[in-house]
Amino acid sequence: MHSIEFPIKIYTGKVKDVFSLSRFGGVSKILLVATDRISAFDQILEGQSIPYKGQVITALSEFWFQTLNDIIANHFIDRIGTNTLLVRSCEIIPVEVIVRSCIVGSLWALYESGEREIYGHSFPDGLQKGDLLPEPIITPTTKAAAGDEPLELDDPIKRGLVGYMDWEYIKEVSLELFNVAQKLTADKGLELVDWKLEFGRLNDGTIILADEMGTPDSSRFLVDGNHLDKELIRFYIKNSGITDVSLLKLPLDLITKVSMAYQLAMSLITGKHVVPYSTRQVLCDIAYYAGDL
Ligand code: ADP
Ligand code: MG
Repeated sequence: MHSIEFPIKIYTGKVKDVFSLSRFGGVSKILLVATDRISAFDQILEGQSIPYKGQVITALSEFWFQTLNDIIANHFIDRIGTNTLLVRSCEIIPVEVIVRSCIVGSLWALYESGEREIYGHSFPDGLQKGDLLPEPIITPTTKAAAGDEPLELDDPIKRGLVGYMDWEYIKEVSLELFNVAQKLTADKGLELVDWKLEFGRLNDGTIILADEMGTPDSSRFLVDGNHLDKELIRFYIKNSGITDVSLLKLPLDLITKVSMAYQLAMSLITGKHVVPYSTRQVLCDIAYYAGDL
C-alpha cells in the first residue's frame, strides 16, 4: 500500500455533512452526505431523525439534477451509494431562491399579518391560505446561519449578494425550472406547490444549481390534498405550541408517517424505492471515493 487518503468533514449542515480532501478549499469536488437529521424553522430537532430521509433527498436531487440539466448546469457529478452525491464544489450564492405557485408558508404568514407588499410583490385583499397565484413568483430570502430573512426582489443586488446580470439569469431560470418540474410532477400525480433552489458560482464565474433540488425538505408536494413533505413536521410543531424546537420529541407515529410520505414522494417522482442501508456502508462510500475528490 502506498498511501491512504481520507476525506475530512468540512461542514456539518443542519441535514447534510460535507466532506472534502482539503480543509483549506481550492478543491473542485466535494461529497454531500444527506443524513436523516431533521430541521424545521431553521433549527435542528436535536437527536431526532426520520428513517430513509437522507436517501430520499439524495435520490430526488439526483433525479432533478439529471432531468433538468438542459435548462441550467448543476453541481451533480455522480451518485455514490444511497446517501451521497459527488458534486462540483462552488461558491454558494447566499440567497435562497423560493419559487411559489400558492400563498402558503411564510408568504401566507406575512399576508395574514396584514402585509400586502411582500418580497417585492403586491397582493390584493381577500386572498385565502393556499390560493393559487396568477403565475409562479420568486420570493428570495437570505441564506444565513441564524434565521433566514425575507428579501425584496431586488435586495440580493442592492446588498451585493449577487450581480445584476446573474440575478436576472437566476430569476428567469428558476421560473423555467419550476414550470417544467410542475408539469412533470403533475403527470406523476403530484402537485408541486413551491420549492427552494440554491445557486453557486464556479471559478470561471459560471452560475450553476447546487445543494439539493425538488426534495420533500426543500419543496412542498401535495397528493390528493395530502402533504408529502416537511410541512407534516411544521404542522405538528405549530400545533404543539412548543417554542423551543430543539427540545421537541416527535411522536413515533408522526416519524413513521413522515418517513412513508418522503418515500412515497421519491417513488412517485423517480419510480425507484428506498433500499436498506447502514452507516457503515455510507462510511465506506465516502472512503472509497476519496480518490475521486
Ligand atoms: P445548511 O444547514 O447550511 O442548510 P445543509 O444541511 O443543507 O446545510 O448542508 C449542505 C451545505 O452545503 C449547505 O450549506 C449548502 O449551501 C452547501 N453546498 C451545497 N452544494 C454545494 C456545492 N456544490 N459547493 C459548496 N457548497 C455546497
Ligand atoms: Mg440546507
